[in-house]
Amino acid sequence: MSYFKSSISLGSIQGGGDMTVPGNRMPGEIHVIVGPMFAGKTTALLRRIRSEGDNGRNVAMIKSSKDVRYAIDSVVSHDGAKFPCWALPDLSSFRDKFGGDAYARLDVIGIDEAQFFEDLYDFCCKAAEQDGKTVIIAGLDGDYMRRSFGSVLDIIPLADSVTKLTARCEFCGKRAFFTLRKTEEIQTELIGGADVYMPVCRQHYVNGQLIMQSARAVLLNCRVKREVKSDDSCLEEAAVI
Ligand SMILES: [Zn+2]
Repeated sequence: MSYFKSSISLGSIQGGGDMTVPGNRMPGEIHVIVGPMFAGKTTALLRRIRSEGDNGRNVAMIKSSKDVRYAIDSVVSHDGAKFPCWALPDLSSFRDKFGGDAYARLDVIGIDEAQFFEDLYDFCCKAAEQDGKTVIIAGLDGDYMRRSFGSVLDIIPLADSVTKLTARCEFCGKRAFFTLRKTEEIQTELIGGADVYMPVCRQHYVNGQLIMQSARAVLLNCRVKREVKSDDSCLEEAAVI
C-alpha cells in the first residue's frame, strides 16, 4: 500500500510558531457588514471604527467617490453620524494617496459602500494578510433585483466575521432583508436615498417587484412608441399605473 506524501510539511506552514506576516506584523482580520439599504450598515461601521480609535489604534475610513450624497470627505450615515474619510475611485490607490509611512502605521481600515469597489478582494487580501491590517467593510450584499452586488460576497470566504443587518419594511414594519427600487431605471448602479429605494420584507419585495416590473414594462413600451410616433401618449399611460 502506498501513501500520498505531501511535499509541504505542517512545520513549514506553522513557521515554528512565528505567525508574523511580511513586515513583522501579526496577521490582520476581515469583518463584513451587509444588509439592505437603511439597515444601519454605515452606523455599525462608524461605531466599530470609533471604538478601534478609542482603543488607541490608528484608523482610516474609505468610501467610493461615486457616492457624493451627503459629503465628499466624510462618511455620513442615514442618521447623520459623520467620520472623515478618503473618497476614492478604487482601493489600489489608497496606499499612495495616504502615504507609505502613514499606511505602515495604520491598524484599521474601514470601507463603506464596498459594493462599488471592483478591486475589493485583492485589497482585502493584501491589507489583512500581507500588511497585517484589520479591514472592516460595509456594503450591500444584493442589488435591487437581489443579484450579488459588486465583490462584497466574494469577501465572505476571506472573512473572520459576517454580520447581516436588517431594516424595517416600509409597508408592514416587519424585518426587511431586501431593497426595492421605486423608480423605473434598470441600471444596477443608481445612487439614491429614500427617494429611490425602500427596505422591504420578503412578501412586500415580491409584491413590489411585480408592480414595478409591470410599470417598467409599460414605460419601456411607451418610450419605444414615443420614439416611433413622437407623441406624448405615454404620459397618459404612465399616469394610469
Ligand atoms: Zn412588509
